[in-house]
Amino acid sequence: MKRTGIFLLVLITIFSSITLFSCDKRENLTSYNLDLTYVEEEHNLYGKMEVNVVNSEEVVFTELKFNTFGNAFREGAKYQPVLPQYIAKAYPNGISYGKMSIDSVKVEGEKVDFYIGGEDLNLLTVPLKNELFPNESVKVEMEFCLSLANVYARTGYYDNTVNLGNFYPVLAVYDNGFYECNYYAIGDPFYTEVANYTVSITAPTEYLVASSGKLTKTKTERDLTKSSYELKNARDFCLVLSKDYEVLTEKIGDKEVNYYYYDDKSPKTKLETAVKAIKTFSNLFIEYPYQTFSVCQTKFFEGGMEYPGLVYISDNLDEQSFNEVIVHETAHQWWYGLVGNNQIEYGYLDEGLTEYSVVLFYEQNSEYGIKRETLINICEQNYQTYCTVYDKLFNKVDTSMRHLKEYKSEYEYVNLSYIKPTIMFDRLRCDIGDKKFFNLLKEYAKDGSYKIVTPSNLISSFSKSGIEVEGYFNSFINGKVIL
Ligand SMILES: [Zn+2]
Repeated sequence: MKRTGIFLLVLITIFSSITLFSCDKRENLTSYNLDLTYVEEEHNLYGKMEVNVVNSEEVVFTELKFNTFGNAFREGAKYQPVLPQYIAKAYPNGISYGKMSIDSVKVEGEKVDFYIGGEDLNLLTVPLKNELFPNESVKVEMEFCLSLANVYARTGYYDNTVNLGNFYPVLAVYDNGFYECNYYAIGDPFYTEVANYTVSITAPTEYLVASSGKLTKTKTERDLTKSSYELKNARDFCLVLSKDYEVLTEKIGDKEVNYYYYDDKSPKTKLETAVKAIKTFSNLFIEYPYQTFSVCQTKFFEGGMEYPGLVYISDNLDEQSFNEVIVHETAHQWWYGLVGNNQIEYGYLDEGLTEYSVVLFYEQNSEYGIKRETLINICEQNYQTYCTVYDKLFNKVDTSMRHLKEYKSEYEYVNLSYIKPTIMFDRLRCDIGDKKFFNLLKEYAKDGSYKIVTPSNLISSFSKSGIEVEGYFNSFINGKVIL
């Protein structure tokens, strides 16, 4: 996600030694087949989902767990999806609620007694009749209904537009047990493995649908259109629907970059920024992996939000911020999308490198007139201000990078997960030199693609620079370094 204004001046307002990257599990991936119907009058999304779950762990499963993010929008949720300071912005029509109901679950064709539990009714448990051994797979079918809240959020509807981020029950990552994702309002509380997707959505024909995947088929009957998509090796799947959308498209080889917008006087410049960002990062890191990339202007109470192959950009941004958010969310295609991480415990891993990628973008595309030195100076000044403010407020400042639930405010989270890591990467680059830095960054992207990384993977990648980096990274992560 992108908070706006990180590069605006002065806003008041790994651990063990080297570890190997986890093995590549892509040969036999879990696959999702989703058949969706959006009923406009009800603001409900009805889904039939078939998941072929592959056990790629070295343990035997007797049950499966799925994170159900739609329930975060229900009345009485323990973890509110919107921070108090954003309520007016996110709910311009007043507070509104949504929820996710699971109507039935079958395992290998037979109905099972599932239940929804977890800390905040956010975890669906599906018992398995037979044990699922490593490398075996099982077919799970479920029917669900997602009732959308009237909210400018990742999941919600308003006027003529519908945001469908995190809209289906998604298999929890097995990480010493199935990992429960609480919907923390600070940060992106998501953690997923890559999977293959085929998704169809039926909606009134007036809606233009933007999607994470490549369009494979459309069929219109009466006033409804069914659009089908495919996406492979992706960490998630997202859709945005709008009756007001226009779209501009540019090709990069056989890949398509789309800009969906409804209120933009200079849409060509936004498409151009997205195209340049895809080209710049493909060149600096590793080639963009999917057939399409869609930038979607939408109602969103923050600056933007990333999904594989699709990003949200808030329609409430000035021209410069809009471009900056496009660059930031595009960089997430590599950091979070390709190279995955637990965003709840190590949010700074993807956000930090993403924000530093924005610096790299402006450095590589000098026509924007934004210099690396200027951006790093602004980061340093903002960080100093944060330290001074927090020191005065709390008599001490904890500058460790940490679990989302441990941040006292969004201001603290932004400084420690975006701004401080940006300084960390830039100083590392100064210390080891451009050649080594960019070679090792490429290697980190290649080795981590389609996998989950931890801080120790970052450390092990940059250990090849020949200088001692473990202490360097740990001093930033643990908050011991004085800047
Ligand atoms: Zn972000």
